[in-house]
Amino acid sequence: MKRMNIAQVTWVENISPNMIRVRLQSETIREFPTGIEGGHLKLVIPLPEQNEKAFGRFLGGFGVRKRMRTYTVRHLYRETGEIDVDFVAHGDEGPASSWALSAKVGSFIGFSFPGHPKLKRSRSEKYLIAVDMTAFPAAAAGVEALPAHAKGDFYVEILSEDDVQPINAPSGINLHWIIKSSANDETHLVNAIRRYPLSGEESVFIAGEFETVGALRYYFRQEQTYPKDQLYISSYWKRGLIEAEHKRVKTLVA
Ligand SMILES: Cc1cc2nc3c(=O)[nH]c(=O)nc-3n(C[C@H](O)[C@H](O)[C@H](O)COP(=O)(O)OP(=O)(O)OC[C@H]3O[C@@H](n4cnc5c(N)ncnc54)[C@H](O)[C@@H]3O)c2cc1C
Repeated sequence: MKRMNIAQVTWVENISPNMIRVRLQSETIREFPTGIEGGHLKLVIPLPEQNEKAFGRFLGGFGVRKRMRTYTVRHLYRETGEIDVDFVAHGDEGPASSWALSAKVGSFIGFSFPGHPKLKRSRSEKYLIAVDMTAFPAAAAGVEALPAHAKGDFYVEILSEDDVQPINAPSGINLHWIIKSSANDETHLVNAIRRYPLSGEESVFIAGEFETVGALRYYFRQEQTYPKDQLYISSYWKRGLIEAEHKRVKTLVA
């Protein structure tokens, strides 16, 4: 298991009705490599009754995995040892969402060193991206790191029109905000991508809810026989399952 550290919350902001930005600070974050934005990391959510000392002991013991969830580095501020993590606020059923909803300056959380960003660079600098709000931080950070001449289309499925966020994308990347008609409507994003005029040169990045991602995985792999080295397709969560259960199902299909 990755080594876990403790970070303090230095800022909390509701960046849209369904997304909370939490800024985390730790000396360890100063060691994160530059360009790590868009990489994912593990967070360990404290139990409500734990103070920081008890949480520190908990991080080294059993039961940690039950409180571990996967999130993304949205921004890195190396000089101050801070990162922004953007949480979809999907209620208090899950420990991570519930923690973010009540996080305040001085709250604490466990975190691991992040992995590498996932958006694959395309030789032609053409991109097709389709994500929901959980994968928006990974995709947006990837797009913001692209060269100014990059081109392509970036589809984002959001829960309400007020969930549109600013993004510093190259001018050749067209943003398309797709508003879900209901919580379990999985068709809009799939239909938009199925209609997309693929040139075959795009680097494709697809991530979000299991069913949507599954439909698009089938489309690219089976129907389009799209080159595997130009594809990143990954489900980030599954309706009705906690993260560990989703992970087990995911390994059967990915
Ligand atoms: C590589 C990677 C990067 C990720 N990055 C981010 C990120 O930056 N921001 C982010 O918000 N999420 C991100 N996720 C998704 C996040 O890990 C899951 O949504 C996770 O299940 C949330 O944990 P939880 O404790 O809130 O809910 P859990 O305890 O895991 O689940 C409780 C219930 O909530 C449901 N649920 C989980 N997520 C959602 C959701 N988004 N909407 C509605 N219901 C949900 C579950 O189906 C379950 O019924 C990422 C996932 C991966 C694999």
